Amino acid sequence: MTIKPYWKNYIDGAFVDGGAGRVDVINPGTGEKLAEHALADEADVDRAVQSAKRVHHSGVLSAMRPVERGRMVQAIGRYLLDHMDEIAPLLTLEQGKPLWEAQNEVRGAARYFEYYGNQAETLEGRSIPLGEGYFDFTHYEPFGVSAQIIPWNFPLEMSARSLSTGLATGNACVVKTPELTPISNYIYGHAAEAVGLPAGAVNILCGWGHQAGAALSAHPDVNQIVFTGSVKTGIAIATAAAQNVVPCVLELGGKSAAIVYDDADLEAFEGDIRKGIFTNAGQVCSAMSRVVVHESRHDELVERAVSVARSLSVGPGIERTEPGLTMGAMVSEAQRDRAASMVAEAEAQGARIATGGRKMNIPGACLDPTVLTNVTPDMSIAQDEVFGPVLSVIPFKDEAEAIQIANGTDYGLVGGVFTRDLDRATRAARQIRAGQIFVNDWFAGGVETPFGGYGKSGYGREKGREALLNYVQTKNVAIRVR
Ligand code: NAD
Repeated sequence: MTIKPYWKNYIDGAFVDGGAGRVDVINPGTGEKLAEHALADEADVDRAVQSAKRVHHSGVLSAMRPVERGRMVQAIGRYLLDHMDEIAPLLTLEQGKPLWEAQNEVRGAARYFEYYGNQAETLEGRSIPLGEGYFDFTHYEPFGVSAQIIPWNFPLEMSARSLSTGLATGNACVVKTPELTPISNYIYGHAAEAVGLPAGAVNILCGWGHQAGAALSAHPDVNQIVFTGSVKTGIAIATAAAQNVVPCVLELGGKSAAIVYDDADLEAFEGDIRKGIFTNAGQVCSAMSRVVVHESRHDELVERAVSVARSLSVGPGIERTEPGLTMGAMVSEAQRDRAASMVAEAEAQGARIATGGRKMNIPGACLDPTVLTNVTPDMSIAQDEVFGPVLSVIPFKDEAEAIQIANGTDYGLVGGVFTRDLDRATRAARQIRAGQIFVNDWFAGGVETPFGGYGKSGYGREKGREALLNYVQTKNVAIRVR
């Protein structure tokens, strides 16, 4: 496959160079340079925001009948699927994930446009009785310019999540793509044109976080911000948003735990281990990074987790085409080394490496799939997000202790309960402080189910109908009838 050597930003309906030059995009599967991408500077960000503002003020999106807007949004999803063979390999080459996972990501991205395209015409206001002589109603209006700052782990899907909701609700959007994985997002510029959106409705630009990202989140003409990424950056973005008194949605990762009771089906749980911690080489905000298991099943579970980890074929994602027991490279050598050093630190603190834990002796940013035991809840490996293929196993004696361990971090994104006893599952689901609970199936749910964090995992919700309300504001109209 020949890759174009240079990719541009998409601003105000045109593919353009960046004022800050170019960034090298590395293929983490080989460590070699894949291509270059334009880097936006503050002036580029300003042009993108001004073009989005013009679209908003023209009313072309916000005044359009929602069903028409919804059809355009749906058409973007179909455009992605039609270009699957073009985008999925690019995504694999820039990000590292197996090709079949990249294909799933394209499907996932398309699904956001299908779902929110469908939702566009369902946002309805209400009529509020004020007594004789008045007629009162509410309706929802888009904020205007929606700024969306995207992480590198699921670049296509994360852009899809915010773009689809933003456009369906009538906002014009400026998307800041990640420096490590900006290329596959080019498709949204082409898709916007193909479905007939006006120039400026969708802007896609890559730039440094401290430059383009900071300029976008502090821009006075941005009306709403959506961010997915690290806590540190989330705080910087929320601070910038507060200066301009605009709302933001923050999705900041997690340290999520699966509680595995003594009656759990451990054979089935092997599938949850595979998808929960080894999908995307563990670079998933809702990864199952901790397993809190009843002491009576601890050894059996560790044995099964080790066998899942050892069965994975790890290497360049582009060679891993079929769904199954495979794992790709991590996004960069820096991320891989960070994960490896967190494992080494855990070992120094007394954890035992049951398998993996080291850089692999092959080209690319690969970490050997890792299972850690002898982990105590207070160790940094049990508290901090690794964002890599590293599973920590922690035993518990009784239910109260299990819940305490699950809730014992600053995060609260998702949680899991594995048991045959529905009473137990319901009790635990009520007590775990997290935005989504999976019972007997890690990642159960979909685009339809609201997703977001408690605690330092962030605030606001993406996905589901809840997300729509983050992109609109309520207007009340009270009429005196004489
Ligand atoms: P990051 O939060 O720094 O980057 C995410 C996005 O924010 C990128 O587009 C980046 O350019 C932008 N950004 C960075 N600084 C900014 C600023 N000051 N203002 C505005 N935008 C800015 O994440 P990272 O450095 O790429 O990864 C570090 C860690 O963050 C990871 O190891 C992982 O723990 C976590 N992370 C979480 C998620 C998630 O899905 N929750 C995704 C990526 C990374």
